Order: sequence, then C-alpha cells, then structure tokens
Amino acid sequence: MAEEKVPKCPVCGGIDLVKKKRGWTITTGVFGMNKMQYHCQSCGKKFMENKAVYE
Ligand SMILES: [Zn+2]
Repeated sequence: MAEEKVPKCPVCGGIDLVKKKRGWTITTGVFGMNKMQYHCQSCGKKFMENKAVYE
C-alpha cells in the first residue's frame, strides 16, 4: 500500500504549496541554487524542501 504524504507549510499548515528551484539569490549567491524550495500560497512564506512538514 502506497502511503502518500502531503507536504505542509511549517508556519500555517497550509498545503497550497508551489515547489520550485531556489535559484540564485543575492544573499547566498550560487550556493544551494539547485535546492528545491516551497512557496506557501496561504501565508506567503518560503522555506526549503526539508523544512516542510509531512503528515
Ligand atoms: Zn503557510
């Protein structure tokens, strides 16, 4: 049985998340630019993939 886990926003618990590459940023330069990042559509917070809450 496949158990599907839905990533949730660690801030508001919302599941309306957009996943995208973090890309280049002015603060970190190219470091970690290929890491995936979530953008919560509910509260507007951005967080790294490993910060998402899976339930
Ligand atoms: Zn949120």
